[in-house]
Amino acid sequence: MPELPEVETVRRGLEPVMAGRVIAHAQVNRAGLRWPFPPQMAERLTGVQVLALRRRSKYILADLSSGESLLIHLGMSGRMLISGAQLGDFHHDHPAPAKHDHVVLDMEGGARVTFNDARRFGAMDLLPTAGAEAHPLLAVLGPEPLGNAFDAPYLAARLAGRNTPIKTALLDQHLVAGLGNIYVCEVLYRAGIHPERRALSLSADETARLVPLIRDVLAEAIEAGGSSLRDYRQADGELGYFQHSFRVYGREGQPCATPGCAALVHRLVQSGRSSFFCPHCQR
Ligand SMILES: [Zn+2]
Repeated sequence: MPELPEVETVRRGLEPVMAGRVIAHAQVNRAGLRWPFPPQMAERLTGVQVLALRRRSKYILADLSSGESLLIHLGMSGRMLISGAQLGDFHHDHPAPAKHDHVVLDMEGGARVTFNDARRFGAMDLLPTAGAEAHPLLAVLGPEPLGNAFDAPYLAARLAGRNTPIKTALLDQHLVAGLGNIYVCEVLYRAGIHPERRALSLSADETARLVPLIRDVLAEAIEAGGSSLRDYRQADGELGYFQHSFRVYGREGQPCATPGCAALVHRLVQSGRSSFFCPHCQR
């Protein structure tokens, strides 16, 4: 499932072929994905210019010259593919339409952007740009983890009195938007905080330590995604899924990466999600 860094990587990959460009033709091949598409979506997208591409949590918003914004959510398996455009050193011809190509945007200038989603948990919607933050999917979101509103006093206030595990609290999208399972595991490992610790039990120091670590972990992953846009992985025109090495996530039974620690990484299941942690380094 794409997390915030993957979505940001997709946004950055789409930017050069979409931002400032007119959608010459939009083709919509089904009535909807997770939810129905808005009425006349193809007509409303055709002939309008994409003014800007931005990201809110795991949503991409394409602001359009029509005053609407196209909201894109990749869901579990959604993929954005670019063809017909020069990408780095590679030129991608348009591939034959594939089974799960649900929305195809032909941009002026020749690039084709295809939204392919085999499991169909993704979503697209059109909303007024002016009131975008009021969209039901966006209105419930907490501050961006890389934004100024997310700071130590804010986090301390939101964790105070909260009896849930810190892992669960950080995954709460009302508290902070876009933090997912993989990156929360990495953050708690670096912070030396056990994923089962009650949120209210964190000291002021521990809470203050979390904010820059969250920013670091996400920024490093976004940087890795940016590298993937420049290297061979982009050769197939698919955006956003990149190799990134994790210090603790997915490493059950392997030695802890902290120098001098002889413990093995453990896994436990919290709220149906795997937590990876070092029982020695994380207390
Ligand atoms: Zn350790």
